[in-house]
Amino acid sequence: MARYTDAVCKLCRREGQKLFLKGQRCYTDKCAITRRAYAPGQHGQGRKKTSEYGMQLRAKQMTRRYYGVLEGQFRHYYDMATKMQGKAGDNLLVLLETRLDNVVYRCGWASSRAEARQLVVHGHFTVNGQKVDIPSYLLKEGDVVAIKENSRSSEKFKAVLEANAARPVVKWLELNAAACEAKVVAMPERSDIDLEVDETLIVELYSK
Ligand code: SF4
Repeated sequence: MARYTDAVCKLCRREGQKLFLKGQRCYTDKCAITRRAYAPGQHGQGRKKTSEYGMQLRAKQMTRRYYGVLEGQFRHYYDMATKMQGKAGDNLLVLLETRLDNVVYRCGWASSRAEARQLVVHGHFTVNGQKVDIPSYLLKEGDVVAIKENSRSSEKFKAVLEANAARPVVKWLELNAAACEAKVVAMPERSDIDLEVDETLIVELYSK
């Protein structure tokens, strides 16, 4: 699968907000957004004049990068979102939020979504007792995600769990830290999702 290999902090600086792509570093004053709060490149500090299309594009890119999803898959989520009941923009964010890799990250079982994706691919998690190694697996209300029994005792996992133990867990997930499992107690709502984006801009962009 294609993946982005350049410096990830550039992505946050381009979008002008923290996308939490680099694990623990994102929570320290070494964060590039704290140190250089302007867009990367020669014209990064120049005058900002953004067209309507530019704003729509930035909203889409920021959301896509936040969840670490490639363009084709993001577009697929948008198509799914338009076929669901309710607002397409809200549905799009809910779909992205309920991906297995995002849930693993939200539970504090990985330092970043990229690490969560890697851990999922390596088969460290179960959903309702069955091994699932697909990062894009969409969870639904009532699903229980757990760290596999023999993965829990690995030194790597112990270190990750310890490093992320203080991170607050979203209210739509019920985390049982001792049992290394989490239940989706409700589907997330837009107000539960902390990404600062105007999702209607993404809808406008794709509906052209
Ligand atoms: Fe973004 Fe994290 Fe880099 Fe800060 S440290 S710019 S939040 S990836």
